[in-house]
Amino acid sequence: MSAAKAGGAVRATVHGEGVDPALCQAIVERARLLGVMGWVRCDDDGMIRLHAEGDPAAIVEVLAPLEGDGREIEPERAKVEGHEQFAVRGVNAGVFVVQEHRATAHHFDLRLEVDGVMRSWAVPKGPSLDPAVKRMAIEVEDHSLEHNDFEGRHGDGGVIVWDRGTYEQGGRVPWPEAIERGHAVFVLHGEKLRGGFALQRTRGRGGGKPQWLLIKRRDDKARPGSDVAAEQPQSVLSGRTLDDIVGSA
Ligand code: MN
Repeated sequence: MSAAKAGGAVRATVHGEGVDPALCQAIVERARLLGVMGWVRCDDDGMIRLHAEGDPAAIVEVLAPLEGDGREIEPERAKVEGHEQFAVRGVNAGVFVVQEHRATAHHFDLRLEVDGVMRSWAVPKGPSLDPAVKRMAIEVEDHSLEHNDFEGRHGDGGVIVWDRGTYEQGGRVPWPEAIERGHAVFVLHGEKLRGGFALQRTRGRGGGKPQWLLIKRRDDKARPGSDVAAEQPQSVLSGRTLDDIVGSA
């Protein structure tokens, strides 16, 4: 039986005078040493939030440095979620870009920087900020980071940089294993796309290209009923639309 199954889970927020980055680092080191799973998030507002699961005695040890020194800690029991890592949340994992691409078929290419390349998915209808909308995403070949700024005519069609920014990796499984296992959770900090998203593989590598669903997670950046791809067609680089570049068909 794994430690997580044998134990419980605790959610805690910590605030007060003595909250600093060294404390956050100490929690990460203790958790990893003690085999406690979950995550910690150290925000600029001087707040530490954490989720710890596993052996109850080990969780107590992870939380120990948080006591005292003018700090207030509010732990409460939480549900065991099955984390397979102790992650630091809220850290930049790299860049992302969404390029709108008119080729044989019109689509949007979502690209996330992972281990020095841009992992890529072609999303025919584009991303959505509506959590009720599941957009098909076809895994395509990796691209280089140099391609991220490309905008202009391309063959008979064209490309614009529809959105870009940085992203955070999330979920219960470390990246890039999360992608290989077919469930990747991430947070986008773009100009149009913000907040949590999930890519869920629906059809594996057996025959043809792997198919996924791109889904907005429910958070304060969700916009139910909206269709951002249709509502905001301009390039974030130049303000141009694909029609401006290739002419309306
Ligand atoms: Mn493409």
